[in-house]
Amino acid sequence: LFFKKTYSPLSSDEIIAKEKSNMDNKRFQHCVRVSETSRKLAKLNDYDEDKAALAGFVHDYAKQVPVEEYRKVIKNEGFDQDLLNWNRAIWHGIVGTYFIKRDLKITDPEILKAVWRHTTADKEMTTLDKIVFMADFIEPGRDFPGVEEARKITYANLDAGVGYQLAHTLEFLIEQRNKIYPRSLEAYNVWSVNK
Ligand code: GDP
Ligand code: FE
Ligand code: FE
Ligand code: FE
Repeated sequence: LFFKKTYSPLSSDEIIAKEKSNMDNKRFQHCVRVSETSRKLAKLNDYDEDKAALAGFVHDYAKQVPVEEYRKVIKNEGFDQDLLNWNRAIWHGIVGTYFIKRDLKITDPEILKAVWRHTTADKEMTTLDKIVFMADFIEPGRDFPGVEEARKITYANLDAGVGYQLAHTLEFLIEQRNKIYPRSLEAYNVWSVNK
């Protein structure tokens, strides 16, 4: 694992060390696999492979930051206060960008936006957003009914993969009677609905 360009004053080794110390090993291995899958999707979709690999690597950097620290940051750092009604599933992308800027010193707006959007997706998605969103869903460690179909669809057509994931996740959330983040629903209406 090595990043030629880190989009940060920190070296590749420093970013990897910080990420490792911010999460357990299981989460770290997931991030490595999302990085590798992002690289693969970038190659297939003519996107900068190193940039995609870094964005995929840092996407869950803040997944295990304590809830109290999140609540403090949301209150004091200019975030939408409605976020206080949600949880770490939603926070670690949107608010996770704050910790990535603070700790990893990554300022590239495309990388930060891809992290910001990686859980909920959005009405508008850049190629990098789609790459990280899909790599997270289909990385080789994922095992859920439909993952093989998701991989097949995504490797054939990135946009179709986005539509598949959003429908799949919404179905799952509704089955569990979970609250749907409005942006997830807006994204579903754009990417999953038959045109
Ligand atoms: P992970 O961080 O690698 O586990 O994957 P994600 O960041 O994609 O998703 C984190 C969690 O957020 C998953 O359990 C999703 O089911 C959940 N999630 C995604 N969209 C929504 C939503 O709209 N509402 C709620 N409540 N949870 C969501
Ligand atoms: Fe995540
Ligand atoms: Fe995801
Ligand atoms: Fe993830």
